[in-house]
Amino acid sequence: MNPFRSSFIERHLSGRYICNSHIEPLLSAYNSIIIGHSEAGLPIHRIRLGTGNTKVLMWSQMHGNESTTTKSIFDLLLYLQSDKSLLETLQLSIIPILNPDGAKSYTRFNANQIDLNRDAIDLFQVESRILRKEFDEFSPDYAFNLHDQRTIFGVEAKPATLSLLAPAFDKERNFNNCRTKAAELAASVFQGLQSSSIASQIGRFDDQFNPNCVGDAFQSLGVPTLLIEAGHFQDDYHREQTRVFVFNAYVLALQAIATSTFADVSIYHSIPENKKIFFDYVFRNVRYVDHGNEKTADVGLQYKEVLNGNQIEFHAVFAALGDLSNIHGHIEPNCENLEPFSFKIEESAQNLLKSLNL
Ligand SMILES: [Zn+2]
Repeated sequence: MNPFRSSFIERHLSGRYICNSHIEPLLSAYNSIIIGHSEAGLPIHRIRLGTGNTKVLMWSQMHGNESTTTKSIFDLLLYLQSDKSLLETLQLSIIPILNPDGAKSYTRFNANQIDLNRDAIDLFQVESRILRKEFDEFSPDYAFNLHDQRTIFGVEAKPATLSLLAPAFDKERNFNNCRTKAAELAASVFQGLQSSSIASQIGRFDDQFNPNCVGDAFQSLGVPTLLIEAGHFQDDYHREQTRVFVFNAYVLALQAIATSTFADVSIYHSIPENKKIFFDYVFRNVRYVDHGNEKTADVGLQYKEVLNGNQIEFHAVFAALGDLSNIHGHIEPNCENLEPFSFKIEESAQNLLKSLNL
């Protein structure tokens, strides 16, 4: 079966706002239980499947507003229902939403405003303890730590649609056997996606060691851990294209594990580093009046994601004014032929968009 087809899409999940109330109606189709409750009392669900000997633990939405990898998990579950071969070799334990409070309020943090990805040692938060308990009890051979990254990340001049990382286990960022296995897994995903349309939009995430980060902590405990960051694909702010690439990444990674066929670690090191080089908008050559003088500069705007009802709205806010020749815009209008703006651009991002009819 060709995993690159996108017919495995859980149509009940779409857009950026995904919380327990979206996934709960789907769970009865799977072997799911509640493994605990969040700080604000919402259930945390876990799905188990497969009868194989090699165990993979996956968790998503540790950061509540990072939902793309959760959509892809349910796409993967559809795929695994139609092709059960992987499940003869693998056993999966999946926590689709680790931070249901953050998911509900569409924030990175949990109900106590704590970043769960800085709580791996202290385990102050109940969500951290639930994940750690699952890790200890399930005793995985591999772990997948699943996130979204902001639209600011790029690979060379293109958006970073996917970023991969084999997290460090020590300050010196050495490669031991465990980290090498994680890197080979990342390399397998990277290599597998070279025939896709995001071949040049896959980055390697920053590997600075932080023992409070869950990926680093699990890697230190000897379990190869792969970080997958879902990112921006051109004109896809709701990340419906990206979810398909993430789904493909899951299938490639699970196939590599199931068949023990991994790409070489040198391929991991060849993945270009992702960099913070994008704004959502970069307006080129904007003329504006400042204290009576006409000036020209580039203007960067960045979307703020705002939950309104059941939808995420994208509100552009001012990000930078000046020479932005080193920065790219996902949208880049040239404004040199426009009349000079008389309003203060720093205070009027919406005005600027309105003037340009955007
Ligand atoms: Zn995250």
